[in-house]
Amino acid sequence: MQWNAWGVAAGNKPLSPAVGTLLSQAFGVQVSDGGRPSEDAVILRDSTLTADHVAGLGELVGAANVATDKSARLLRAGGKSTFDLLRRRSTDPQNAPDAVLFPADHDEVVAVLQYCSANRIAVVPFGGGTSVVGGVDPERGGSDAAIALDLRRLNSLSAIDPISGTARMGAGLTGPQAEELLGAHGLSIGHFPQSFQFASIGGFAATRSSGQASAGYGRFDDMVAHLKVATPRGTIELGKPPASAAGPDLRELFVGSEGAFGVITEVTLRVHPVAERTDYQAWSFPDFTTGAAALRAVVQAGVAPTVLRLSDEAESGVNLAMADKAGGAAVTSGCLAITTFEGTAAHVASRAAEASAILTENGGTALGADPARQWEHGRFNAPYMRDALLDSGVLCETLETATTWSNLGTLRGAVTAALSEALTGQGTPPLVLCHISHTYPTGASLYFTVICAQKDDPIAQWTVAKRAASDAMVGNGGTITHHHAVGSDHRPWMTAEVGDLGVEILRAVKNVVDPAGILNPGKLIP
Ligand SMILES: Cc1cc2nc3c(=O)[nH]c(=O)nc-3n(C[C@H](O)[C@H](O)[C@H](O)COP(=O)(O)OP(=O)(O)OC[C@H]3O[C@@H](n4cnc5c(N)ncnc54)[C@H](O)[C@@H]3O)c2cc1C
Repeated sequence: MQWNAWGVAAGNKPLSPAVGTLLSQAFGVQVSDGGRPSEDAVILRDSTLTADHVAGLGELVGAANVATDKSARLLRAGGKSTFDLLRRRSTDPQNAPDAVLFPADHDEVVAVLQYCSANRIAVVPFGGGTSVVGGVDPERGGSDAAIALDLRRLNSLSAIDPISGTARMGAGLTGPQAEELLGAHGLSIGHFPQSFQFASIGGFAATRSSGQASAGYGRFDDMVAHLKVATPRGTIELGKPPASAAGPDLRELFVGSEGAFGVITEVTLRVHPVAERTDYQAWSFPDFTTGAAALRAVVQAGVAPTVLRLSDEAESGVNLAMADKAGGAAVTSGCLAITTFEGTAAHVASRAAEASAILTENGGTALGADPARQWEHGRFNAPYMRDALLDSGVLCETLETATTWSNLGTLRGAVTAALSEALTGQGTPPLVLCHISHTYPTGASLYFTVICAQKDDPIAQWTVAKRAASDAMVGNGGTITHHHAVGSDHRPWMTAEVGDLGVEILRAVKNVVDPAGILNPGKLIP
């Protein structure tokens, strides 16, 4: 992962001429390479970890697995939100973890947590570092120093139960590593968030991630059968598959706990055979309301496509404007929807036929397989474009929420209006694009992409817009986050989400498992 951009350098791509034209027409900006500062020009605040503590931690994980050099610290200075990427471009002094540790196994993680608890050192669990909510910010809280605990060495597939359909995996495995190990046994998780290539199994569990195939395989939290967690108080193992009525499900307390309650070291997941076949079909709808009603009809009929998404008019229009001639336009008016179906040939055929009938009845026009295949082909490339847009003086960020079907239109309208007003009020009218990418019988998520010209201080500019959008979400029946998690960025809205008593319960749990308050300070819990 690049320290100042998404992904690997080989994936960086200049903006296409079509995008350049769009940017100059919409925002009056010209494509440029931005002149990002080099690593040498970036200044990190000095490490406050004492030499004794560096040596003490080295005794636990091996001196070679404690890094205090600038590159290691800079790479873990934050996640990959637009705030993070803009902060990395600054030549003012930046916060960074005081050291980075690479433990080898669960027992080393427990030992590190106990040492840090006794020595006032905050610990920020670090998976892929793809958080977009400030989840890996190197905050010290009340401690004297903060380390990033990089879990990449916890990377084994330690058990498979093909009869029950489960696999036990190290928390540090990235999405592709996990799929490769499982693929050798003909198995797959089916979890493909846009950050798939870099995010980790432990990170998915710690943030309740949801992937692009969630309509078929569910959210990541649905897949977690068992967790092994290291806390400063010792080890806790949770989850008795297939199900249990032994009181409240404590596994749920740790799924989504964002490193504040413990470090997830091992995850046992529900897995399934690699699909025999995938069918692709794209659709066009005259408008978003009609398309959303059609998606609802499909989901409520229990048809279960693997991927089911719908872009609104603005997003479909921008996709069309951005399509290079060779790329082919997905839809020429209205809204584009994508469906895919994975499974055995017979199961794919029956679900695709049923979905097709329902979508057609509800106003959809079939566009064939190509636009759906193109979407799948390019689905991991979009984050690279954000860096090129930032280089060119364009602000670009995404945010997401969810609500019931009956409230979807109200929430979409309110968030779009809040973003438009907040940015137009600053003299930078935005394009606000939206799609549905995760569906449930009772409702759906809304995923917004916001693009506008940058002001002199884009961090302050986006802070105003993000606050307005977040207020609009919680004020209009939405959740503050459907899958990006809370981190530090959404923490101010947690009381609105779970209430005062809910916050007290979270604090009480934290006091039990982390009495010294070293685990990921400043995240999740207000
Ligand atoms: C371009 C882009 C696209 C994205 N697309 C999606 C998407 O489609 N769906 C989606 O759900 N999310 C998406 N995200 C958000 C992000 O990828 C997810 O939140 C992901 O689950 C984070 O995994 P990670 O391994 O990178 O975790 P990190 O970023 O390293 O950490 C995230 C949080 O979890 C904690 N944590 C990490 N590992 C552990 C562990 N083992 N034990 C305890 N706590 C831990 C961290 O301390 C932090 O609070 C996207 C992000 C980007 C930048």
